[in-house]
Amino acid sequence: MLDNIKQLSQVLSNTFNAKDIVNVLLEYFEQNFGISSLDIYVFDDTTRSLRDFAKNWLYIEEICDKSTTGQLYSYFETLCYKNYIEENNFLYYGLHRGSKLIGMLKMDVGFIDTENLINFLDLAIYIISLKIQNVILSEKMQKNIDFHDSMKNIAKIIETQYELNYIIPLIGEMIDKFVSNHLIYIFIRAENGTYKLVWPGACKDEKIFGLLSVLTPNSDCVMTADKKIGLFPLVTEGKLIGCVVAKSTDGRLNEKEVEYIEQLTNQAATTIDRANVYAEILKHATLDALTGFYNRRQLEERTRQEVSGANRKNKPLCAIMIDIDFFKKVNDTYGHAVGDIVLKTVAHIIKSQLRDYDIAGRYGGEEFTILLPYTTLSDAQMVAERLRMAVELKHIDISKVVPDSPEKYISVTISSGVHQLQSGEDETELIQKADKALYEAKTGGRNKVVIYDIQNNM
Ligand code: GH3
Ligand code: MG
Ligand code: MG
Repeated sequence: MLDNIKQLSQVLSNTFNAKDIVNVLLEYFEQNFGISSLDIYVFDDTTRSLRDFAKNWLYIEEICDKSTTGQLYSYFETLCYKNYIEENNFLYYGLHRGSKLIGMLKMDVGFIDTENLINFLDLAIYIISLKIQNVILSEKMQKNIDFHDSMKNIAKIIETQYELNYIIPLIGEMIDKFVSNHLIYIFIRAENGTYKLVWPGACKDEKIFGLLSVLTPNSDCVMTADKKIGLFPLVTEGKLIGCVVAKSTDGRLNEKEVEYIEQLTNQAATTIDRANVYAEILKHATLDALTGFYNRRQLEERTRQEVSGANRKNKPLCAIMIDIDFFKKVNDTYGHAVGDIVLKTVAHIIKSQLRDYDIAGRYGGEEFTILLPYTTLSDAQMVAERLRMAVELKHIDISKVVPDSPEKYISVTISSGVHQLQSGEDETELIQKADKALYEAKTGGRNKVVIYDIQNNM
């Protein structure tokens, strides 16, 4: 008997995870006692359920189909005051830590004589229990270590990364790692309350979209009644900026997982918020606040890039300089606030008429520059003419800013100069020549489009 025990502890000493333990024990009891199956169940205190130790016991809540769960649990309860139960060709034997029952073995003993087996287990069960306890502890610990590593990683991202496109997949992957039997989705909430899925590519579950609408900045985690879907709001400084959704693919979300995801979500919210602030700062540094166009500095940079690109690829590039006519009079008559509305409106008209890859910038006060890559002079002239007409026809509503004004609407016109980049010209010449044509449009009567005259150089 002692030899057998020695042998058993030897084989167990080479096992390091739950699955191996089950396999090694099965093999051992098969060979020495003729059993034909072995299951090990461990009791989980937090969810108060039995877990199949051979399967992903740390994660899965249901051990097997529900019909057998109840019966198993009643055996388990009986083992609190009995070492073993023999029933229906199965032997159930309790696993203990001290006097506490922590799980049980379930062996298919068929028609073998169980006396020897039970005698052996009475002695060997301490070694087996100890080994299982150790694995439970070390696997739980490993999970905690992974969790803290993950938190550390998120903290590191917070310090070093500002690009949302980069941050979101990282956060998604990290949460995924923790709750391996769940699908993770990340949604970002727009100012108008709509949600956009940013991780992963698609979410087919309509139910999730419906659930998102119940979230408020004060919501804690929201769970469906069956606990299969959990919504974890991303909140920073009292603002709801999005949501992490975990959907279980088997079983349901247990308390521990909820706790993990909540912590990760909190960290993620801070990270995402910082990225948003950074994007805002970047926008202010490159865009004109009033019109949303590139500011002068950025415009010059983009002009340089486009000119060099056009020269390199030998593709046409046109510039249009636009100036609002008699703008000073608008300011003088209706005030600066109306002047601002006019500027915004003209900018809006310009934007609405351009293609995605056209570039619009605010050159100065009421002057705009448009760059049209891959565009010949005649097309650019057409664009300028279309803009001129659109502005002329626009009735600009000023009643909100100057309610006392006799006119509810005013109109303005624009003048434009157009030039196509010639070989050998640089960005300064491109803009100067378009500007020169603009000057011609002004002196020629305004509300006009003039093309720079390359023949006469004026
Ligand atoms: P012209 O037809 O010759 O272009 O006449 P103009 O009155 O438009 O010409 P001018 O360049 O003398 O006047 C431009 C005015 O634009 C002067 C300035 O007060 C005004 N301005 C510049 N920037 C802004 C701004 O951001 N908001 C407002 N409301 N006015 C501005
Ligand atoms: Mg002007
Ligand atoms: Mg001007």
